[in-house]
Formats: sequence, structure tokens, C-alpha cells
Amino acid sequence: MNVPLLDLKAQYAAIREEIRPALDRVVESQFFILGPEVEALESEIAAYAGVRHAIGVSSGTDGLLVALMALGIKPGDEVVTTPFSFFATAGVIARLGAVPVFADIDPATFNIDPALLGRAITPRTRAILPVHLFGQCADMDPILAAARARGIPVVEDACQSIGAEYKGRKAGSLGDLGVFSFFPSKNLGGFGDGGMVVTNDPALSERIRLLRQHGSAKTYHHKLVGGNFRLDALQAAVLRVKLKHLDGWSAARRANAARYSELLAGTGLLDRSAVQVPVREKSGDPNHHIFNQYTLRARKRDGLQAFLKAAGIGTAVYYPVPLHLQECFAGLGNKAGDFPEAEKAAAEVLSLPVYPELAREQMDHVVRKIDEFYGERKA
Ligand SMILES: *Cc1c(COP(=O)(O)O)cnc(C)c1O
Repeated sequence: MNVPLLDLKAQYAAIREEIRPALDRVVESQFFILGPEVEALESEIAAYAGVRHAIGVSSGTDGLLVALMALGIKPGDEVVTTPFSFFATAGVIARLGAVPVFADIDPATFNIDPALLGRAITPRTRAILPVHLFGQCADMDPILAAARARGIPVVEDACQSIGAEYKGRKAGSLGDLGVFSFFPSKNLGGFGDGGMVVTNDPALSERIRLLRQHGSAKTYHHKLVGGNFRLDALQAAVLRVKLKHLDGWSAARRANAARYSELLAGTGLLDRSAVQVPVREKSGDPNHHIFNQYTLRARKRDGLQAFLKAAGIGTAVYYPVPLHLQECFAGLGNKAGDFPEAEKAAAEVLSLPVYPELAREQMDHVVRKIDEFYGERKA
């Protein structure tokens, strides 16, 4: 049996009849950049995320970059973030000449630990950039409290977490700015790159609209030095179709995650500490995890991954090297041991297939093979 990490063909097969006319509409219009499809998607995403403004951009990375540009982040400024995320989170800080300053993660959730924020904040801190990793919101109340006490803006990297909730409020609507990615493997994925910046602040929204188009509102008149960070109409048309299915897909991912955790508990592997399943909210806890990834901690992780691969099961390590140990950040002066929880996570995590179309038999197969791996190594 084959179990890919993600099966986008299965998703497309289910919505093909809705997607084709949407693509045709754009092709017939020959209007490809921004325009009515992008504006419609912006309104729909703003309503979905519970914010006043949404600005379509070329990728999640560009969304983060333009959000920091709109806040005026400049060389020498510090931005506090997590060391355990996709590279873009810290990359955009460095691209502006600013310094990524890390605060270690909470081992239970893999998200930045608010208790460690105080130590990372200095008089040069100009923004805090928490990430809602794997589809679960960071613990935002203490993060926002620390930021507000010092007048520092908060940008949420919600690239993996569109539709996730924190105490009943949607990811992206919690800080001053939120950023979503529409990379194909995200819960809401386009047919290429795309992203969205959301905010309740009309002035920030206006700045981002300008920066997205080389800082120009009137053609060939430039108020600011921006870039080409535009979303295209074909992506918007696809995303508008998919947005209608997003909550259903995320619910299926949550159900799959719950089932994995139940099946894995049944193997006894949790009691033997061979694997740890992701923290799932207790019923009544209003946090809403959308499981862009279902991520285990696993003993002998690399061996398990190779064993599963040989059994036809796709898995991934998000992420094998924490950001503070990336070669390109050697100049920041961080060293191994500085952020021990991030380093431990990097050595232990393994994400399993959790996509909505996954069949029960496929999940059974995955759990059986994991059990088999540790069973063989019991002695
Ligand atoms: C995917 C992702 C990004 C970047 O999004 P792209 O659309 O691929 O540029 C940034 N941060 C996190 C946490 C992501 O998962």
C-alpha cells in the first residue's frame, strides 16, 4: 500500500468541475494580475479571518517581507521570533538588514515560549514575529501583552494556519498584521505561489497596497520603494473555489489527527516513550488546531523515517536544522546549545500524512508499520 505525504491529485479530482470554469473565466478575461478576482478573494479572506483588510501578495514569504517593510523595519533593528520554523520567517528579517533574535520554543506545542520572550526583547526590538506552527496558534495572549507593554507591533506568521483559532479568534486577526501562504501544500493551496496579508489597521493596509506595486498608487508615480509582490488572477480564482472547502478539509485533517493519536495510544508506543503524539486541545479548550502537519516526536527518528519510506509511506522532517544554526546565520553568533528545545525538536520530529482524503486503511497501515519498527527493536 502506498501512502504519500500529501495527495493533491485526490483533492483536485473532487473539485475539478468547479475549478475548470473558474480558470476559463480568467483566461477568457485575459486579465491576469490583481483585478476583480484578486479583489473578490481579498474580501472573502478578510471575512473568513475576521479582519477588515486583506491584501493579496505573491507568496507567504513576500507577505512577511512586505509586512515588515510596512512597519518600517530597517538595518540594525531587531525582530524577535522562533528558532523552529520554515526559513522564510527569519530570512525576511535578515533581508531587511535587521537581526533575527530568537526565543526558544515550548516543547509541548513547538511554538515560541512566551515565558522566554522577556529575555529576547531589547531596546532595539522593533517587532515580534510568532509563528503558528503546523496549524496551531502560538500562545498569543502573553505575547501580545509583552508587546503592548513596550509598544512593539506583532506580525503573525500564519502561513501554516489559515482557519486555526486561539480562544475563539482566528489566526491572523490576533496581532497587528497576519500573513497566510497559499503554497500548494498548505491547507488552502493555489496552483502556484501566493499569499495574503491581513490587518485591522487601515494605515498599514494602505502602505502594503502601495508597497505591493513598487510603492505606486498612480502609475509611474512612486511614493515608496516597494516591489512586485502582486497576486495573480488565476491563483485567486482557484483559491476562491478552494476557500469554500477549507473548513471541511481542515475538519477532516483534525479527525485524521485524532484517529492517529488514538491508534498510536492503542499500540502502547506512547507508554514506552517510543513516540509522542502532538498536543491536541482538550474538549472545551477553544484553541482550534487545523493540522497542516501531524507531527510526532520519535525515538530513532531517522531509522523510523527510512523504514516507513521502504514501506511506501511518505513522511517529512519539518525542520531538521533550527534557524539559529543555519549556515547563512553563522554571523549572528548563535551556537549549538543556545536554544535546546528547538534543537531537540529538530532531532525528533516526524510529520505523517494527514491530508483530508487519507483513507482509514492507509492510516491503519501507517500505524501498523510504526508499531512494527519499534517492535523489531524491542530486544
Ligand atoms: C510556507 C511558509 C512560509 C512561506 O510561504 P511561501 O508561500 O512558501 O513563501 C513562511 N512561514 C511558514 C511558517 C511557512 O510554513
